[in-house]
Amino acid sequence: MKITRVETFAVPPRWLFCRVETDDGVVGWGEPVVEGRAATVRTAVHELAELLVGKDPSRIEDHWQLMTKGSFYRGGPVLSSAVAGLDQALWDIAGKTLGVPIHVLLGGPVRDRVRAYSWVGGDEPAEIADAVTAQVEAGFTAVKMNASGRMNRLATVADLDRIVGRAEAVREALGPDRDFAVDFHGRFTAANARKVLPRLAHTNPLFAEEPVLPEYTHLLGDLVAASPVPIATGERLFSRTDALPAVRAGVAVLQPDLSHAGGISEVRRIAALAETFDIPIAPHCPLGPVSLAASLQIAFATPNFLIQEQSIGIHYNTGGEVLDYVVDREVFRFHDGHFARPTAPGLGIEVDEAAVRAANDAHPYWHGPIWRHPDGSFAEW
Ligand SMILES: [Mg+2]
Repeated sequence: MKITRVETFAVPPRWLFCRVETDDGVVGWGEPVVEGRAATVRTAVHELAELLVGKDPSRIEDHWQLMTKGSFYRGGPVLSSAVAGLDQALWDIAGKTLGVPIHVLLGGPVRDRVRAYSWVGGDEPAEIADAVTAQVEAGFTAVKMNASGRMNRLATVADLDRIVGRAEAVREALGPDRDFAVDFHGRFTAANARKVLPRLAHTNPLFAEEPVLPEYTHLLGDLVAASPVPIATGERLFSRTDALPAVRAGVAVLQPDLSHAGGISEVRRIAALAETFDIPIAPHCPLGPVSLAASLQIAFATPNFLIQEQSIGIHYNTGGEVLDYVVDREVFRFHDGHFARPTAPGLGIEVDEAAVRAANDAHPYWHGPIWRHPDGSFAEW
């Protein structure tokens, strides 16, 4: 079997899919994207595709090595995401060729279902409590929210009251048997995170995510030591070597992204690295159906897995939704806030190719918002 063609599709709300075709008629799908940099990743995918066309798709690891290391310069979000999508597509082809889901190729399922969390928004405590109640009524056992909007470099009393007030409202709405995670989104300075985290302790978040930006991973160890709330990070770490300082700093949860961190091949290895530090993974996935399908394949095959992010029905998916691009939507149906084990071969989904082709290039590329502080200077989003 040989790879004959690689195509890419930029679709709403902000995703990029790749389709890898073989001369056997087997087709694999991947989702190589960096949110806000889809056009750049698309170019990288087509550059890397030159290494694949004419080659045997089953040599996944050899392709991964060449794509990742074969042009001397390596790593970073763009290249690692391009590799990630193509890697997903190669695993999809392998599973479809052999007639088994990818998690069977990875050693078989280690769990019967995968716990997922939903996003909740709302500025006011009452608003966010209503959003949480809706998710609880939908069967979810866990939710995640942003800690805050734009943050001052050091929180004012009003900032602190807002952050703690929302967390208290969420805990109150959830009761003691469900969880919430709070995403700091890299908006906090390290000192600010140290100031805020102890004040959240009584609300018992499952974890606090990205309390500092990834470029300050060298500060994570001190933060972990000072925080009564478990610390999570990893969506902006793109390889085992990127993840190593974070796991050595003692984070509680690692959050590799299947579409950013080298795909199924590398996230599998990142999970193994985390396991040696007794750290579970919670794959980051605010992305589309192919990325979510790849996440689930890892979740079912990985012992040290905690919980899965997903963006079905999320408020910021405008113009396109996870379920718009799959034929068999049952795969992504929630059962008491959990995903059932996908049993179809490969990634376990049937991509709606007609819908993908119809949506391709029908919208401008998405860019993240640019925020500024009141004095006009740049603020982290
Ligand atoms: Mg995050």
